[in-house]
Amino acid sequence: MIDQILDYNKSFVERKDYEQYLADKYPDKKLAVLSCMDTRLTELLPAALGLKNGDAKIIKNAGGLVISAFDSAMRSLIVAIYELGVEEIMVVAHSHCGACHMSFDHFRDQMTARGVTEETLSTIEKCGIDLHHWLEGFKDTPTSVRSTVDTIKTHPLIPNDVVVRGFIIDSVTGLLEEIQ
Ligand code: ZN
Repeated sequence: MIDQILDYNKSFVERKDYEQYLADKYPDKKLAVLSCMDTRLTELLPAALGLKNGDAKIIKNAGGLVISAFDSAMRSLIVAIYELGVEEIMVVAHSHCGACHMSFDHFRDQMTARGVTEETLSTIEKCGIDLHHWLEGFKDTPTSVRSTVDTIKTHPLIPNDVVVRGFIIDSVTGLLEEIQ
């Protein structure tokens, strides 16, 4: 698949298809969106929010979560605010998210079936990594959105004037529901 992508890429550039996407690194709408990596959202999310190239910083991970105050999502938001002029943040989870019902026990079974040893798992946990917390899903999407919004809003490095709001987007219709 990657080789096919590389072939496509050459013709994309030769056709100058990139010209329709020209933008600079500063988001025109001073907006950052934290959302899920779900494939249903790849084009639906920006289309349903009316975002085009150059409009917003879109940060994605499994679930659209901040799972700890100094994780990668939080780091990206800090960069978006201080380096790129972001003033508003939308946390956008979605319906039927694959990250919702993940269970660490399931991951553990899959990992050991594919050659990861129990010794490796216990060594990682001895280093202070809580794999259970890291890989466990969330039980309830609105609660998860509130938790991520709260972690961002109350973060000691986030300025008070940054607006942070939480939403769940319908994975089919794109309808946004605000989570208070
Ligand atoms: Zn998801």
